[in-house]
Amino acid sequence: MRYNMSLSDQPEFDTVKGFLDEGEGRRLYELALSASKYAPCLEIGSYCGKSTLCLGLACKENGSALFSIDHHRGSEDHQPGEAYFDPALIDLNTFQIDTFQTFRQTIRKSELENTVIPIVSRSQTCARYWQIPISLLFIDGGHSFRDVFVDYQAWVGHLLPDGYLLFHDIFKTPDKGGQGPYHVYQLAMASGLFKELPTTNTLGVLQRRSLADAPNVSTLNTKEGSS
Ligand code: MG
Repeated sequence: MRYNMSLSDQPEFDTVKGFLDEGEGRRLYELALSASKYAPCLEIGSYCGKSTLCLGLACKENGSALFSIDHHRGSEDHQPGEAYFDPALIDLNTFQIDTFQTFRQTIRKSELENTVIPIVSRSQTCARYWQIPISLLFIDGGHSFRDVFVDYQAWVGHLLPDGYLLFHDIFKTPDKGGQGPYHVYQLAMASGLFKELPTTNTLGVLQRRSLADAPNVSTLNTKEGSS
């Protein structure tokens, strides 16, 4: 049965800690429902599993899989004294942030343990060995320009033609929020490899061009030959 992403149908969404709003969650679900028919999806920065829930439910419907990569030690903003620090996420054995226990609860309660494949690692460490084509890449790890760029550079080559490249926290002006994700989003657009689709709140949505979108090669050759 097709799952309808609304708060009334999925009370888990509201109970999971995270920074994704309902509209963004529904869009993630819809894009993953379209993409995961062809190959697995992959997210970077799963935190407590809010986006994992949305992407994972769609992958489950298609009998597909979602790889969820996070070191689970929190980004800069989640550390003690920072804006998004949550003392409930401190591991009392190590006195470090540990979101993995909460993340596991989310996927267990949502019955996604046979769909979501957690990878506890820095994304670039994992990327060094990765060989699996993916249909959707959601980048929501560290939000500095450097972190977002490294995630983009390390993973974008695995995205299939027509696959979706998604960035969370796209703020077009500095007064709204940090500019790291937006600047990498702009770089991706400048590459010419992507089509820009409508955003949903702060969720930027690009689609990798396919061969059918390429310039007509025979026309180019004719021009070169005549010069
Ligand atoms: Mg985010």
